[in-house]
Amino acid sequence: AAKGDGRGVYRFYSSEMHADAEDRRQLEEDLRGALANDGLHLVYQPVVSSATEQVTGYEALLRWSHPKRGLISPTVFIPIAEETGLISQIGEWVLRTACRDAARWPDSIRVAVNVSPIQFANPSLPTIVMSALAGARLSAERLELEITESVFLNDDADTDAMFARLKGVGVRLALDDFGTGYSSLGYLKKAPFDKIKIDQSFVRGAAIKGNRNSAIIKSIVSLAEALSMDTTAEGAETHDELDMIRQLGCSHVQGYIYGKPMPVAEVIDRLNSNGTRAQPEGFRSS
Ligand code: C2E
Ligand code: MG
Ligand code: MG
Ligand code: MG
Repeated sequence: AAKGDGRGVYRFYSSEMHADAEDRRQLEEDLRGALANDGLHLVYQPVVSSATEQVTGYEALLRWSHPKRGLISPTVFIPIAEETGLISQIGEWVLRTACRDAARWPDSIRVAVNVSPIQFANPSLPTIVMSALAGARLSAERLELEITESVFLNDDADTDAMFARLKGVGVRLALDDFGTGYSSLGYLKKAPFDKIKIDQSFVRGAAIKGNRNSAIIKSIVSLAEALSMDTTAEGAETHDELDMIRQLGCSHVQGYIYGKPMPVAEVIDRLNSNGTRAQPEGFRSS
């Protein structure tokens, strides 16, 4: 009987795995279709200066609205795009679209674009970036590339050279999700980041969770200051979190408190009605 159960469990499990693989294959095919037929779009989330409460930039975030499944999170489809190689084309589309959108904003406002480690490993990335900037007539310093610590997994001469080439193009570089990966301090020394983004897991609820998160944020801020880098606290939702982040000295804040990711038309509406001034949600005069 034990043997029979074992087989039964095995058969059940393998048919589940088959469904998963089939599901992924279908998603991959649909994603290809979405890229070819305008099924992807970008939304933008404001990044706000703590000192001035001005919007200094918007982060471009990719959305896929699937005809049958509805909105699919980038945390679901980006890994599929990375495994299948589709990320190269998708990433290029994101760069071009974000640069074109940002070209319609005031010069004081940057656009931040997430770059996958797979794109980062492609020697033509600097050429693609220059082409996106030129195509949109956007100056390089208005584009910030967000890179995660995982690019350092193959920490070698190629990684160093890519940082140098991107700096040479004139774009800004941000280290995304800091604190969630290896957080080795060695590469902060040699990689030319302009900004460290403190992962939302340290920020959210930090006001109630107390000392440990705030101690970590504080030490990241002083490290960044010593290296002349900005800091953005990600994922601030409440006034308490905002107050705490400011007390801890983060130079910038990004989170639902200042706005959820929104379509570019809404960015333009806000710029037209509020200028570059940001306001915590719930206190906006209308
Ligand atoms: P990320 O780059 O760290 O982006 C920040 C994520 O935090 C976004 O999720 C944003 O919507 C969310 N967020 C911001 N403020 C708050 C807040 O106050 N509360 C909560 N609960 N969430 C907040 P999103 O848009 O789902 O993106 C998830 C991840 O997918 C991104 O994390 C990034 O790693 C990846 N991603 C998104 N767009 C792209 C893209 O164009 N290319 C690549 N390679 N990755 C992308
Ligand atoms: Mg990001
Ligand atoms: Mg992040
Ligand atoms: Mg993330």
